Amino acid sequence: MNNRHYDVIIVGGGVMGCAIAYYLRKFDSQIKVALIEKDPTYSRASTTLSDGNTRIQFNIRENIAMSQYGLDVLATFAQEMAVDGEMPDVAFRQQGNLFLIDEASREESEQGLALQQTLGCQVEWLTPAEIQQIYPLYNLAGCVGGTLGRQDGTMSPLAVLLAYKQKAIALGTQFIQAEVVGLYREGNRLTGVQLANSERLDAPVIVNAAGPWAAHLAEMAQVILPVQPVKRQVTVFDTPARPQTILPALFFPSGLYLIHEGDGHFMAGKSLPDDPVTLDDFTWERTHFEEHLWPELVATIPLFDRLKITGGWAGLYEVNSFDGNAILGEWPELGGFFLANGFSGHGFQQCHAVGRFLAELILGRPPVLDLSIFSPRRILENQPVFESQRKII
Ligand SMILES: Cc1cc2nc3c(=O)[nH]c(=O)nc-3n(C[C@H](O)[C@H](O)[C@H](O)COP(=O)(O)OP(=O)(O)OC[C@H]3O[C@@H](n4cnc5c(N)ncnc54)[C@H](O)[C@@H]3O)c2cc1C
Repeated sequence: MNNRHYDVIIVGGGVMGCAIAYYLRKFDSQIKVALIEKDPTYSRASTTLSDGNTRIQFNIRENIAMSQYGLDVLATFAQEMAVDGEMPDVAFRQQGNLFLIDEASREESEQGLALQQTLGCQVEWLTPAEIQQIYPLYNLAGCVGGTLGRQDGTMSPLAVLLAYKQKAIALGTQFIQAEVVGLYREGNRLTGVQLANSERLDAPVIVNAAGPWAAHLAEMAQVILPVQPVKRQVTVFDTPARPQTILPALFFPSGLYLIHEGDGHFMAGKSLPDDPVTLDDFTWERTHFEEHLWPELVATIPLFDRLKITGGWAGLYEVNSFDGNAILGEWPELGGFFLANGFSGHGFQQCHAVGRFLAELILGRPPVLDLSIFSPRRILENQPVFESQRKII
């Protein structure tokens, strides 16, 4: 049996694992990093099944800072990630995000807006009349206003993932196609991983970047993580609407969201309380849209009473059932086990800040962003960090 040694083994080659690998090698060109991914086609990874949206509209300072950091990174991403002169194009489109607000969500939206503005974010409050004037499509009964984040937008999650992956490999990361089926521990430290072919790889640091499989991986080391894989569906449809420009993505107080893709093409999704916890169910059902999303959409956009569903897909959120926020750092009861998990529905946009922060923690560098609020210690100490009811989607 082979026995290979690394300084860091990252389990999971989605956008988190690739970003962590990139930052590790960027900061330390000598560190030996293995990035292990069981499915390089990414057919079930959350990253490639996500909507690719990024927003600055959070209520926690650190979540806002992560988005701001992501925007800074995106400004020079193509140049930074160039490999052999080839620059990735992530198709970042800053059409803005418009969060509709009802009476019940007014207070927390006002608090969030005040904090965002204090931190220099370009977010503004629009009255229903102002929204109506700019977007005559909408019927805003029951809405007391909206917050428009002009820096928010969407991009290709696959392109971002592949850019980090290619660059991490170009900088010297060893990419290994394999499934981790076991974790080795000695006392209260992790020492290595077991692959499905029985090979053992050793490292003093193992990173859990397994997305919806995070709790499954942690269980291999007898660590119980409050992270559940929850099925979410996205439906794509064509409508008679013909907006002249791309509309801001629209977020309803109920959690329903609508992303305009150009011409009459839109996609929509909504987290429902009874969405199944599963690692195997990736079936998309048009009835999910017809029964749960369509009536609500028509109430706000009457023109959508006629539309043609053109497709859809299902993916998995890695829902942090403890407090909905990221879990970042070393598990206090198991030395060498670093977590980048629990991002629920907003992890894609945080990959830049998380990649950097995890690399800084592992290398013992002072972090550029202090994200210690998301330490896993809070789970053991029962100190949840809640965002707000409305914006964790
Ligand atoms: C429908 C949907 C829409 C979303 N929309 C957005 C959005 O608009 N904006 C946003 O910010 N976020 C969004 N998200 C959330 C976002 O996609 C995730 O938070 C983020 O992509 C998580 O990245 P990850 O690398 O941790 O996980 P993943 O991309 O799932 O990567 C984990 C990888 O680990 C691999 N792996 C797992 N176990 C093992 C093992 N034992 N051995 C080897 N490899 C293993 C898997 O194969 C997988 O490729 C959405 C998610 C979904 C499902």
